[in-house]
Amino acid sequence: MSTLPDMALSAGASDFIDDAKLCALLKLPPPDAAEVSDVLAKSLTKQPLTVAEVAALLRCTDPAQHEQIFETARQLKRDVYGNRIVLFAPLYVGNHCMNDCQYCAFRRSNPDVERQSLTDADVRAEVEALEREGHKRIILVFGEHPQYSPEFIARTVHTVYETRNGQGEIRRVNINAAPLDEAGYKVVHQAGIGTFQVFQETYHHATYARYHPANTRKGDYLYRLDALSRAQRAGIDDVGIGALFGLYDWRFEVLALVEHGLYLQQRFGVGPHTISFPRIQQALGVDLDEQYIVSDYDFKRLVATLRLAVPYTGLILTARESPEIRREVLGFGVSQIDAGTRIELGGYSRRTNAQCPVREQFRIADMRSLDDVMRELIEDEYLPSFCTACYRLGRTGEHFMEFAIPGFIQNLCTPNALTTLMEYLIDYASPATRAVGVKIIERELEKIPQAALREKVKQRLRQIQETDARDLYF
Ligand code: SF4
Repeated sequence: MSTLPDMALSAGASDFIDDAKLCALLKLPPPDAAEVSDVLAKSLTKQPLTVAEVAALLRCTDPAQHEQIFETARQLKRDVYGNRIVLFAPLYVGNHCMNDCQYCAFRRSNPDVERQSLTDADVRAEVEALEREGHKRIILVFGEHPQYSPEFIARTVHTVYETRNGQGEIRRVNINAAPLDEAGYKVVHQAGIGTFQVFQETYHHATYARYHPANTRKGDYLYRLDALSRAQRAGIDDVGIGALFGLYDWRFEVLALVEHGLYLQQRFGVGPHTISFPRIQQALGVDLDEQYIVSDYDFKRLVATLRLAVPYTGLILTARESPEIRREVLGFGVSQIDAGTRIELGGYSRRTNAQCPVREQFRIADMRSLDDVMRELIEDEYLPSFCTACYRLGRTGEHFMEFAIPGFIQNLCTPNALTTLMEYLIDYASPATRAVGVKIIERELEKIPQAALREKVKQRLRQIQETDARDLYF
């Protein structure tokens, strides 16, 4: 059992979240039509919005203006991400935790939760189960506990990459874990991870103190706020931020997420790789305060506004949300979703259709299989992708932006989505999904403007259909 890292802040760490400033921005009068049009026009040029511009969109009360925001977000999503949706699965590794977050089933004071840390053999069994379904990208999730040291996390990452199953392999491992110190991040970085996620949960200082007892590690607001700055300093340039919506005013959290992104951009030359916006859900032994629960309508505004604010940052929508909400919100700018999700510890190798609250952090609302989600995406004209090329070719952080901003990425993302989709159709898909899948590949192929590239992609698709060749990416 190792010890937890010292709670040292990064040099130059600062508390850049000014509650009073953000609240004042939200108290200004609703913007007029001209101001809204100006902000929307700016976002369509793919420039990030300022916090004040985002606040103007959040102060809109006129449903007609909301519709303008929704439509502009749809347009920007198409312009930057096309119709691609990247897929992944979460894998919970351990739920021992020193913290006592009042909204979480895994909090240390909850006597009813079953505690477990997966062994290497358990991890292999879970990964094999995920590979048998066709997954290629996973995120490992850990509580905050001495057991889950940087070395333990790194060893788990190695176990995942080493686990193969026929054509099955995991090609990208992201991490959602407690903040580390710079030395710890270096250990995890060297294990070959993709994105490191740390969510602030709520950026509102008083609310943060209310839900995170001061005598716990997570009770230290600034140590957590500084977490991804330490990660960047340790060489992890793909970081993921997030807030748990439902703890405080959702509009405040959106402004604070944008502020956090601009802070990382200003300090490290690159903003967050992804933003997550989970809505609070029921959890074992948690008595939810409903005061700030986000309605489905406001949730659509939340996603659309984030899309407009940060054009090149991935937006992650999870199985916390129902299939119906996910289907509706996808078009507003979501770029990544999980599918076939089980958050129960050991839930993939033991796969059932029932949830197990004593072994889960919260309830999820979308228990569909990966194959069912794939088919619905394709039927809705989305192009599912398991692409992992950028991270494996070092196109991360600032380097990724060199490709993303001028639009080169289109010449890489769509071809890579097509080859990863074909792999899925050949190796894992049900006949119904294969039938709609090959059709969308034909349609998307014809949309590739460059004849030479189109030919190259056709060649690779044939290789996947006719041989054992796999993992063909640009
Ligand atoms: S939210 Fe995370 S840190 Fe807080 S109690 Fe739950 S597992 Fe622990």
